[in-house]
Amino acid sequence: MPLIDIGANLTHDSFDRDRDAVLARARDAGVATMIVTGASREHSPRALELAQAHPGLLYATAGVHPHHALEYTDECDAEMRALLAHPQVVAVGECGLDYFRDFSPRPAQRRAFERQLQIAADLADRGDAKPLFLHQRDAHDDFVAIMKDFEGRIGAAVVHCFTGGRRELFDCLDRDWHIGITGWLCDERRGAHLRELVPSIPAHRLMVETDAPYLLPRTLKPSPKDRRNEPAFLPHIVEALARDRGEDVGTTAAQTTATATAFFRLA
Ligand SMILES: [Zn+2]
Repeated sequence: MPLIDIGANLTHDSFDRDRDAVLARARDAGVATMIVTGASREHSPRALELAQAHPGLLYATAGVHPHHALEYTDECDAEMRALLAHPQVVAVGECGLDYFRDFSPRPAQRRAFERQLQIAADLADRGDAKPLFLHQRDAHDDFVAIMKDFEGRIGAAVVHCFTGGRRELFDCLDRDWHIGITGWLCDERRGAHLRELVPSIPAHRLMVETDAPYLLPRTLKPSPKDRRNEPAFLPHIVEALARDRGEDVGTTAAQTTATATAFFRLA
């Protein structure tokens, strides 16, 4: 069953030396489609370039991660809008709030997030709605409040790399947001609570991602020496997810692929 990695940071420089081999290994492992995360002014156009070089295999998102919130100028906003006019750019983001690392001042994070939500609202208004690829860490209440301001004006949304608790999960599901699950699930220290929560996520809200090159699944054997994660490891995450959900791996694979195909309008 072909898999879809909904979050792969394939423009990251750790892939510069062997990007084609990484893509070939992903395909061999059954990862038929990867959504290349665009998370900054520098990397969003590169995500689109990569998708254009590999049509059908790769798609891109365009956005500015909260870590880069200070670069969100009017020019940056115009650049994101131009990228999002392209059919191979399938989602707005990565955008959101990160109060865990606080690499950018929180008011700047909120402003950059709101401006990208406004792009999503404008696209929906024009009949070209694109889903949102969202990042939230330690900022749940502000995140929900800002999203509420755009309720009814934006398309579908996925909270990628979900690592929160039960209240956060049900807040997301109550608002019909989708959930992206990464190899965080395979972390025996930090992922235990998540393993108990994943059976509660309805199949039509659940998608999978590596967040490569980050978040190498800790249970992967053998583990690559350089600790770099890559999309070829997605089946390992799907196996862990299927086990925790108490379903066979073919079911989890088929359902997450169907959900991602519909969410990103890939078919
Ligand atoms: Zn993220």
